[in-house]
Amino acid sequence: MHHHIKRNLALHRTVPVTVGVGLIVIISAVAIRYTGYGQQVSYSESEAGFETMTEEPKDQDLAVHPRLRDLDHWSRPPGPIRVGLQVGHWQAIDAPDELENLRTRTGTSGGGKNEWEVNLDIAEKTRALLQERGMTVDILPVTIPENYWADVFIAIHADGNVNTGVNGFKVASPWRDVTGEAEEFSQILEEHYAVSTDLDLDPNISRAMRGYYAFNWRRYDHSIHPMTVAAIIETGFLTSAHDRRVIVDDSERSARGIAEAVLEYTQTIIKI
Ligand SMILES: [Zn+2]
Repeated sequence: MHHHIKRNLALHRTVPVTVGVGLIVIISAVAIRYTGYGQQVSYSESEAGFETMTEEPKDQDLAVHPRLRDLDHWSRPPGPIRVGLQVGHWQAIDAPDELENLRTRTGTSGGGKNEWEVNLDIAEKTRALLQERGMTVDILPVTIPENYWADVFIAIHADGNVNTGVNGFKVASPWRDVTGEAEEFSQILEEHYAVSTDLDLDPNISRAMRGYYAFNWRRYDHSIHPMTVAAIIETGFLTSAHDRRVIVDDSERSARGIAEAVLEYTQTIIKI
């Protein structure tokens, strides 16, 4: 169902005009675990703003959406590589009316920390690493600018579970991706984050995680531009003492994993 769009983008790449790819990195923690005692739902699975997509859009729908109307003529804005790092649950109270259900959602907690504090710490350390490489980095709260464009957008979260033995990180790409690059970036992010943190991979990526609200430009004004390459990362479980040893006590490792993924992706994929 994305064939029209992808074909158009592929054509763009054959001309000298660069097609920029924005990546939104969302760092998040979400998971479902099954134990011998039955199903235990991780925070990320029931989190507000994580929406299950049940229907694929028709080509017709894609064609009429205002944000897609001019994509055939779109080219990456000139300037240094721009990276958006969204801090999950940060300044949730300021969410606009269209996202009012997020205002009271402060995320998970553990080890004396609220999730947003952990997410913000990782985002700031990641920003420092990327700025050293000459990139422009926006640290964004729950409410992102309308039609926000970046080469890469990453939403940063941490997960929680009543079972403190549940641990691990996970990365997901948007359910609907016009750029055609988000899946590849998610793979790169997963690999670098694993190497840098040595945390386990939690395989329980839900449809809801891929339907993260900031990806959903069909539904919300405060969402990414369709040509922003996006990912969401649940950096680990804040309810796990094992994971807290990295994401709270040694968060530089989390930041390095994210930054290295952005560096690799922007060096090999984006041709400016
Ligand atoms: Zn979260």
